[in-house]
Amino acid sequence: MYKIVTIFILSSNLSFSQEIVFDNYFFNKSMRVDYSHVGNSQKEEIFLNEIKDEPFWGGSQINLIDTFFYGNFMVKIIDKKTNKLIYSRGSDNLFKEWQTTTEAKTTNKSFYEVATFPYPKNEIIFKIDRRDKKGTYFNLFSVEIDPQSKFVKKEKSANYKTFEILKNGDSKNKVDIAFIFDGYTKLETQKLYADAKRFANYLFTYSPFKENKTKFNIWGVEVISNESGTDIPGQNIWKQTAINSNFWTFDSERYLTTSDIKNLRDAASLVPYDQIYVIVNSEMYGGGGIYNFWSVCSADNEYAKYVFLHEFGHAFGGLADEYVDNGLSDEFYPKGVEPWEPNITNLVNFDKKWKNMIDKTIPQPTPETKEYANSIGLYEGAGYMAKGFYRPYQKCEMKSLGVGYCPVCEKSILQIIEFYTK
Ligand SMILES: [Zn+2]
Repeated sequence: MYKIVTIFILSSNLSFSQEIVFDNYFFNKSMRVDYSHVGNSQKEEIFLNEIKDEPFWGGSQINLIDTFFYGNFMVKIIDKKTNKLIYSRGSDNLFKEWQTTTEAKTTNKSFYEVATFPYPKNEIIFKIDRRDKKGTYFNLFSVEIDPQSKFVKKEKSANYKTFEILKNGDSKNKVDIAFIFDGYTKLETQKLYADAKRFANYLFTYSPFKENKTKFNIWGVEVISNESGTDIPGQNIWKQTAINSNFWTFDSERYLTTSDIKNLRDAASLVPYDQIYVIVNSEMYGGGGIYNFWSVCSADNEYAKYVFLHEFGHAFGGLADEYVDNGLSDEFYPKGVEPWEPNITNLVNFDKKWKNMIDKTIPQPTPETKEYANSIGLYEGAGYMAKGFYRPYQKCEMKSLGVGYCPVCEKSILQIIEFYTK
């Protein structure tokens, strides 16, 4: 009897400590913290810029604590009075990618970044943790914030028209995607609306998105630019656009990104969102996607549909590239550390990945032959590396365009859809 009572108390304490009742801690709107991420390949620091009060919170009101631990960074919100973790979310960013470039070995640079979370009712401690080279988190930045402070900015950040592209229900239990447009002029407004519809349909091309369409809302922000197109430094083409997107990021021609996170988040603040997709009015091949940071894709390339889905795999699913690219720095994944992405492994901790999804009859490593064409296995060549890194399937959208996500990527995406829609 005594034993049973003890167990009961223990387990009820456990579930109590993990449960955060949204209304006890948060208002149904967002707090936004803007900061500069500054440093070089060896060191980095965060400097606070400003704090804002934004009208919408697009995320779950149940799943407030991150359960995936994807990304190299983790934003944590601590209730100051009780010292309780009341919100956390993993992410990656452009600064971290830049750190692996040769430029970062000799130059200090500053990148603008933003974190949003539901608006706290009481004083909080805002923290950013970062993984070290061994994959362990350490605290990079910490600041106390009083949500009642008169210095929290309450002005409307931007003045764009917004529109519904797909609406299936209340944002708190849907995945909300904000489509932000770059390089569309006033004369191209009609094209902007047509592209919004076209790209929303692209999302539901593959499993598991197509079976879960009713779990998504897609919002459009009618961002109008002064000039049409985007910056293409390699061709000396420069356009004055609202979100300042550009090709040739880190000297890679097809790497289409934006560093103008302030203007991007100002535009996104006009709708509820979990994810931001920047659609760039260009015919050139390219895109980019960083976990819980942004997705970027050009609108009019013949491969746009597949680039769109591939990049969303990075930004939404936390998926790694499954292809080999010898041109990329071998410092991209630190040696001896299991990558955090769910769809690649260097066998440091394969138990944590898809090992239990491989049939006992499949050899590991798995030969890339017809016999195993539809088998989950352990295929060498992934995460840009030809040797020592493995992927789960011969074909996947994260390896080559137009083939759909592999079963392991599908499963990972599905888990994230479930997280946002609780
Ligand atoms: Zn895959």
